[in-house]
Amino acid sequence: MKKWILLPLSAALFLIGQTNKIDKPKLVVFITVDQGTPSLLDKYDHLFIGGYRWLRDNGVQFKQAYHEHGYTATGPSHFALSSGQHPGNGGVIGNQWFDRKLKRGWYCVEDTLSQVLIDGSTGRSYRFVQSTTLGDWIKKDNPNSIVLSIAGKDRAAILHGGKNADITLWYDKQGGWTSSTYYVSKLPNWVNTFNKQLNVPSYIDSVWNPFLDNNVYVNNTRPDYFVGEAKWSLGKYNPIFPIVIKELGLSFLLSTFYILPYGDRAVLNLGSQAVDEYNLGKDKYTDILFLGLSATDGIGHSFGPHSHEQLDNHLRLDKNLGQFIDSLEMLLGEGNVLYVLTSDHGVLALPEYLLNQGLNAGRIPGPQRDSLFTIVNNEIEKQLGVNQVYSYGNAFYFDNDMDKDGRIIATRILKSHLSKLAGIRSVITKDEILNGGKGIIDIRLINMVNAEKSPDVYLIPEKYWTWRYPAGTSHGTPYDYDAHVPLIFARSGHKVRSDSVRVKTVDIAPTIAKLIQIPFPKSVDGKPLKVY
Ligand SMILES: [Zn+2]
Repeated sequence: MKKWILLPLSAALFLIGQTNKIDKPKLVVFITVDQGTPSLLDKYDHLFIGGYRWLRDNGVQFKQAYHEHGYTATGPSHFALSSGQHPGNGGVIGNQWFDRKLKRGWYCVEDTLSQVLIDGSTGRSYRFVQSTTLGDWIKKDNPNSIVLSIAGKDRAAILHGGKNADITLWYDKQGGWTSSTYYVSKLPNWVNTFNKQLNVPSYIDSVWNPFLDNNVYVNNTRPDYFVGEAKWSLGKYNPIFPIVIKELGLSFLLSTFYILPYGDRAVLNLGSQAVDEYNLGKDKYTDILFLGLSATDGIGHSFGPHSHEQLDNHLRLDKNLGQFIDSLEMLLGEGNVLYVLTSDHGVLALPEYLLNQGLNAGRIPGPQRDSLFTIVNNEIEKQLGVNQVYSYGNAFYFDNDMDKDGRIIATRILKSHLSKLAGIRSVITKDEILNGGKGIIDIRLINMVNAEKSPDVYLIPEKYWTWRYPAGTSHGTPYDYDAHVPLIFARSGHKVRSDSVRVKTVDIAPTIAKLIQIPFPKSVDGKPLKVY
């Protein structure tokens, strides 16, 4: 009799426990779409039938997710996504910056102690990055978990995967995916086989035609070949379909394959193969696969977000993502994979297009920039001597040995001349940023600064102005069009909702850590979001 009463009671308790606590996924697929602008996902939502459709229909979408750092570029933003730290704090202040001690530029994932496998050139790894990523936290929690990172760009793959990934692969700009001796002594056979079968040079005979009927492009976005679209390959190609790869040439194809839609398809196929090779998601230790997709960025830089080319790229990515997700769902079963989709930054629409919309948009004139930079560099050299101030990119670094008076003089020269440059909002010092206000832009600039590594003087563009000159467009500013990114957590059979709460991209890594029930470092700047 007692037994009869106890049995249903314990069964009931078990069920209550199950409904309150969601099982952790067996595999996390963390996808970062480079320049994956959220407004385009909304604009083209009615056209999606593949992966974007699946993620939006099976996911929790945070519609107000922002990078809260001022320099919204691939390196710093991938760092923020995976480490949960703002790039200033973590020291990844750009894709590259001037190193005052070495007196030369430093690439964000440069590793002078290893070599790239394809050609023995200076290595790439997370070795000199002073942080850890979600991949490292997973590995630390249980070394049986597998951490893989694959991307078009080396910095995307490396800053995703972290120090202890089982393998990190990126496109070598010569026709295949590679790694460095930091990760593996030689490329695994399955990657060599993949590269051979992919046969990038054979794409020379490809013709990039529109995926759907021409009306779809005409009806859903702005006119093609808009003023400001960049021409590829020395003007041989006017930016309209079809894009005949042969006309662009073999070296163009090899060096840019990863920013063409074919490159993203290859990353997804390589990802699928990696799932098989490493048996991801097959045991109780949660694995993670990071994927970095770069075509959106390459196409957006050249033709702008509202181009026919970018719409076509989204349609192709939707299809390829759909096939990737379908096969993974079939392989691992419903609810066992958590997909996270986000982006490293948005982008500015072509300034000429924005001007047409009545906005004060523009391009910071390259020739005026160059002549003003020459003037300030000469003036500083005359007053303070050589090698006192280093102009690198669009910023200025003072030598470590420079005294206070020298800094005051150099700052005065830079401010008086460079504030004349068209499209510049402010010529601002590192200290002025750190002691700045509490507005959103002020905070984003602060989160970009590293007290030791950062430039001493920055040029901040006006809203809707770009350094890209004379054509194409870019990102890298603290404004919302660059900082706003999509954020979807999707798992079949789980909650679907749209959330308008404002969240930070540094929240993503600790959120995933919480969902897979592992600890994360106290040093992260983000906090776990409530997803389920
Ligand atoms: Zn870019």
